[in-house]
Amino acid sequence: MTDCDFPPSEVSAAFTLTPIGHIASDYPDKFGIPRQPGLASASRATLTLSPPFDDPLTVRGLESFSHLWLTFVFHQSPTRWTPLVRPPRLGGNAKHGVFATRSTHRPNRLGLSLVELIKVDTHHGVTLHLRGHDLVDGTPVLDIKPYLAWAEALPEARSGFAPARPPSLPVTFSAAAETALLAHDDSDSLRDLIRQVLAQDPRPAYHKNARNTSERRYGVRLRDVDVRFHPSTHDGIDAMHVEDIVVASSPP
Ligand code: SAH
Repeated sequence: MTDCDFPPSEVSAAFTLTPIGHIASDYPDKFGIPRQPGLASASRATLTLSPPFDDPLTVRGLESFSHLWLTFVFHQSPTRWTPLVRPPRLGGNAKHGVFATRSTHRPNRLGLSLVELIKVDTHHGVTLHLRGHDLVDGTPVLDIKPYLAWAEALPEARSGFAPARPPSLPVTFSAAAETALLAHDDSDSLRDLIRQVLAQDPRPAYHKNARNTSERRYGVRLRDVDVRFHPSTHDGIDAMHVEDIVVASSPP
């Protein structure tokens, strides 16, 4: 049967997709999340499957894979979309076709992330422990597939306007920030996460391009802390300076 043989109603049918589970993430809100999963390897998440997908049989054998593809919905993006978008990677200046980018503002709002699988917990339903992701807390997940390096790792592939990892800025910590870190459980992992997130320069492109931005203060919430930072210069190069880290008291 060719495509033309499908009755028109079937060709244009809309699909109803049901999330198989939801993400609980180190990123309570979108600001600061790196633009791809591998950029902050210290970021952790859990994916808890919902009934009826939480049967341990659904993940039998998954623990022998180190990485997974997650298909998910950009549920915090608007449903409206435009054919051209401005990739942040290009400083917000150039426009590319939505299907030539990884934009979160797209038809069907489908996202795709390659994440590291740390542990499969089947004691109460199914919870997957993940690392190195780019998902905001609460993200609905539609599917999980194991990653096959022999088929899917293509280092020689052409990567258009994003040919390599984005540059990474040095990150410095004030004495107050260091003290706050040391008081925190798991301070090494939190320090790594803060460093990896700020090294990506999460500021919006129009702030980066503006003059005198070093006066401006920013805040990003990671895990249970608010991180206050500002751009600075370190040994003559652009850097990010963490002023303070405080335990978050209010919802983001
Ligand atoms: N790896 C995915 C996502 C790339 S865009 C893909 O290629 O499809 C990454 C950005 O998605 C992050 O910077 C974050 O701000 C945003 N994001 C993550 N989860 C989201 C969600 N549930 N809704 C809307 N935006 C989300």
